[in-house]
Amino acid sequence: MIGARATGLSALSSRLFGGVGAVFMLHRIGAPQNRSGLNGFLSCEPGFLDDLFSKLKGEGWRFVSLDEVADRLRAGHVDERFAAVTLDDGYRDNAEQGAPVFRAHSVPYTVFVCPGFIDGDAFLWWEIAARIIETTETVNVATGGGTMTLDCATPARKQVAYDRLMDYLTSEVDEDTQRRLMSALAQAHGIDAQAHCAAEIMDWDALRTLDADPLCTIGAHTIGHFSLKRLDRDRARAEIEGSAHRIAEMLGTVPRHFAYPYGNASAVGAREVDLAREAGFATAVTTRHGLLQPAHAGHLLALPRVSLNGEYQHPHYVDTMLSGFTMALANGGKRLVTV
Ligand SMILES: [Zn+2]
Repeated sequence: MIGARATGLSALSSRLFGGVGAVFMLHRIGAPQNRSGLNGFLSCEPGFLDDLFSKLKGEGWRFVSLDEVADRLRAGHVDERFAAVTLDDGYRDNAEQGAPVFRAHSVPYTVFVCPGFIDGDAFLWWEIAARIIETTETVNVATGGGTMTLDCATPARKQVAYDRLMDYLTSEVDEDTQRRLMSALAQAHGIDAQAHCAAEIMDWDALRTLDADPLCTIGAHTIGHFSLKRLDRDRARAEIEGSAHRIAEMLGTVPRHFAYPYGNASAVGAREVDLAREAGFATAVTTRHGLLQPAHAGHLLALPRVSLNGEYQHPHYVDTMLSGFTMALANGGKRLVTV
């Protein structure tokens, strides 16, 4: 484990050359719930973070808030490598397992939250899908075109089934149909999707407590975690602005930073960047794979990130990362990654 962690660290470190800074992306903090598993890659162990912060600080990296990222880029203050830490979705483990590590290293961090997860208007549908596939041998999904039967008898088939279901739900049906199908599927499998969400995601009281940590910034992540590109403009705008309003209403501060849900090329483009700018955010982050360059001063609403999710602690990915080609591969050789 230590070996894998150390190898992952050196691989990550070697990947960080070539930029002036980085925005790290996390979701869950803790042991992966299921290493073979379908969402295990969205988890990062506290020990890995502890080692990473020590190592990067030892190499001269400065950990700063997203406000300071924006200030440094705008001011052209790029003579020192800097990094910001971000966590998406507002998992309870961010406070329980992440905050102590951030405090120990004085690392500022931003947690992007969806009010819909807290207010009961949305749920972690991809986790529900994973849980059903992990615990069932055959899954039948009632689609408009008939029943989709997924063979989930072995770990390999579960992965194929999960990928097929994700593909269907994120590209073959619209966002509302996706949620309706997942609600019905949860119900058919006896899963209370709202209770699951409430157990995993911080409520407003927990967020207020976390927000009192001077190192913590709360950012917005839309109301309902929809793929914005797949919504019409008015609805996308309402999702973005509504999340800022609701957070301001509940926490007393208007969020200055935003993360696009899913954050990839199929979820965020130029229109969404315009909407985030019009909503008044100082920065917005994607999940595009890239480092910060001085020219990002002109693209503060489309900042790429470096994922610290479990995949980079997993030996399977180390060789790929050591090759050093991941950034170039992900972006067609471009160093300035925007949307
Ligand atoms: Zn998210």
